[in-house]
Amino acid sequence: MTIDTCIKDSFALSVPYAPGYAQRCARALDEALYSTPAYAAWRELDSGPTCPVFSRFAALPALTKRELRAYGPQGFVPHGRDIASALATGEIELVATSGTTADQVTNVWYQPWWDATEAASWQLNAHARAVATGSHREAILTSPWCTGVPCEDGYLSMASRSLDRFLYLTERSDPSLWTDAMMDRMVDELNTFKPAVLEANPSFLARLSRHIVSHRLRVRSPGLIILTYENPSILHLRQIGRAFDAPAVSSYGATEAGHVFIQCEAGRFHQVAACCHVDFLPFTPEHGGPNVGRILVTTFDNPWRSLVRFDIGDVVRLDDGTPCPCGRREGLTLASMEGRTVNLTLTPDGRAVTQAAVDRVLASVPGLVQYQILQTSAAAYLLRFVADDAEHRAAGAICEALQTVYGPAAITAEPVGGISPDPPGKYRLAKPLDPIDPDTLLDQRYAPCPS
Ligand SMILES: [Zn+2]
Repeated sequence: MTIDTCIKDSFALSVPYAPGYAQRCARALDEALYSTPAYAAWRELDSGPTCPVFSRFAALPALTKRELRAYGPQGFVPHGRDIASALATGEIELVATSGTTADQVTNVWYQPWWDATEAASWQLNAHARAVATGSHREAILTSPWCTGVPCEDGYLSMASRSLDRFLYLTERSDPSLWTDAMMDRMVDELNTFKPAVLEANPSFLARLSRHIVSHRLRVRSPGLIILTYENPSILHLRQIGRAFDAPAVSSYGATEAGHVFIQCEAGRFHQVAACCHVDFLPFTPEHGGPNVGRILVTTFDNPWRSLVRFDIGDVVRLDDGTPCPCGRREGLTLASMEGRTVNLTLTPDGRAVTQAAVDRVLASVPGLVQYQILQTSAAAYLLRFVADDAEHRAAGAICEALQTVYGPAAITAEPVGGISPDPPGKYRLAKPLDPIDPDTLLDQRYAPCPS
């Protein structure tokens, strides 16, 4: 494959960027192609520095976890820096991402770069800008297998779950098994620790919020709730809003790519353009395009990892093109994160349905507390749910709502006692019958070139 036979459009050409942004992209690209071993095979695809940088990006393949595993951490370190000596001095660490074994990647973790991307993201939300100083007290409610101190048998003291300015509220990874006493303890600790920020998996915090509301507990709200690790369901947001007064903002990123988007105070998602470039690849109209598509992330200025056009595995929806009321203009702006590509399901006639599309219709079902949808055949779906209303009434409303998305199909709604997260502690709201190849959904004018 050569540049003569792979010419693609770039959505980035229609996105507003600050002066100097294209040069930063070009520096990141040149460093990858000409100073980083893993990208050697891409050099012949590069149309060179005389071409506009967004067109150069568009002529390249996507980088996937397969390549990250194949080349290993050293393959993505630019300029011949030596991982072994930096590990020995403690400058960097190696961390394995969570996920199934087939999906795991070992990353070089360079804390100063991660912190810089986080601090840059805070600038894009007025609440975060006000309360997140970098030295603020922060309570964390996520799976302890992702961050924190896991202990599935017995309980840990508050001191043993504290680290510097952070307090990890749970040592147990399955909220469906949390006891009332454990959730009472979380509320007590929030009231005494008085965090400025509460960072949480939305499903975990929704579970605690339901407990707070049903037991009429008094909880001191933090200055800001930052939701991360999962795409929040509208049900989660509603349940959290009943228990806490604080604004809740979704932060989006990945271990490999740092902080990529954050929700502003007006509710849209702004690209953290100080730290990364994002290529948007629209789906075909049949699958929800051109405003729905996948994203590829290129990171800036990480001395220990050069990442170009990394397929981060998520689907997003663009905003409607009107200026965001918050006044921020730079970079890609999204109306919503639509969920993981692995959580896409298909209608009986083969159209892609995002997790968020399912979530939007289920949000109107009275009394629905939790759900998970499983596609069980090409035209059959099983929705497992928890409701605090009459179950038969909820089941009827669920089937009706899902038919607006899937059309005529065999839809079964089954009440369950609770829904557990998948290991290591993330809920999946939707699961397809078989994994869908997301490349088949793309508008081919923008699709990545073959590697
Ligand atoms: Zn905004």
